[in-house]
Amino acid sequence: MLNTMISRTLPFIPKKLVWQFSKNYIAGETTQDAVSAALALNRDGIMVTIDILGEFIETLDQAEKNKEEYLELMAETEKNGVNGNYSIKPTMFGLLLDAQVCCGHIRELVKKAREYGSFIRIDMEDSQCVDPTIAIFRKIRAEFPENVGLVLQAYLRRTHQDIETLIQDGLPLNLRLCKGIYVEPRKIAYKEYSNINRHYLADLELMFKNGVYPAIATHDKPLIQGASDLIETYKVSPDQYEFQMLYGVTPGQRKTIVAKGHKMRVYIPFGSHWFGYSTRRLKENPKMVSHIMKALLYKG
Ligand SMILES: Cc1cc2nc3c(=O)[nH]c(=O)nc-3n(C[C@H](O)[C@H](O)[C@H](O)COP(=O)(O)OP(=O)(O)OC[C@H]3O[C@@H](n4cnc5c(N)ncnc54)[C@H](O)[C@@H]3O)c2cc1C
Repeated sequence: MLNTMISRTLPFIPKKLVWQFSKNYIAGETTQDAVSAALALNRDGIMVTIDILGEFIETLDQAEKNKEEYLELMAETEKNGVNGNYSIKPTMFGLLLDAQVCCGHIRELVKKAREYGSFIRIDMEDSQCVDPTIAIFRKIRAEFPENVGLVLQAYLRRTHQDIETLIQDGLPLNLRLCKGIYVEPRKIAYKEYSNINRHYLADLELMFKNGVYPAIATHDKPLIQGASDLIETYKVSPDQYEFQMLYGVTPGQRKTIVAKGHKMRVYIPFGSHWFGYSTRRLKENPKMVSHIMKALLYKG
């Protein structure tokens, strides 16, 4: 209730004040901010995936502009020798306006990533995006199997089946598994914490059994433990998976995982749209408010 109240009033709070919350989770406004954050993490032995904020667009011109921004980001990070790759949200490239145009833009980015020897991760957005996003991923993966990956959300009832279908394609498969951040109806999504975690680990086990490269994206201690147990059970070598966490979230846990010899990648969001992004995320999922509060208190 308090979370909801706080999240509803956030758009009316001065930008400067919201930045006090957001700066812990967003690298800054410029490419240079993202590159600096990335290089600092690289120095600690952590890889990155960089995301430009700003997923809602109304015209295809904006989609084109977003693609250009990503191309510039890629040129800049490669020039600076960042050890990392890129995460993109399909709606930023027009998924909900014209899926074919969107596919064309993402293809161009993945093609460029291949030239750099890099990789593009296609984030998963709310449930209306799942089918068209998977369709685009399959099309692009057929052409660039080593340079593109997808995100699937363990809270969706369909996800286990989606993994099986993608495995049957018989191509290299690199999947980030997360719980899922959007508020979805019970009809299509598991709601209870323990149920989501149980399905998360079942999905991960399916991936390990079938040689899929999983990016284990979570800050949840029991899940991290469950994933570590599976890694041991299936004797998965450290180059066959990675852990992923969000920029600024549970840095202590991050360190522990790295110290145990696992690969770690941090998701770095940045860009001029950080204000809209922060307030929208908080409205979408008011639970984030308490995460942010907790993190701030924890940091002292
Ligand atoms: C690298 C990465 C990429 C992601 N990509 C996507 C995507 O493409 N699509 C999608 O729907 N979701 C994505 N997510 C978000 C994900 O779905 C979850 O909503 C989010 O990670 C929280 O779930 P959790 O597994 O950490 O577990 P939770 O049970 O939610 O959290 C466990 C603990 O972690 C801490 N914590 C978690 N999140 C935060 C936070 N934001 N701030 C402070 N503390 C926090 C808290 O201490 C909490 O108690 C991504 C997450 C990560 C890490």
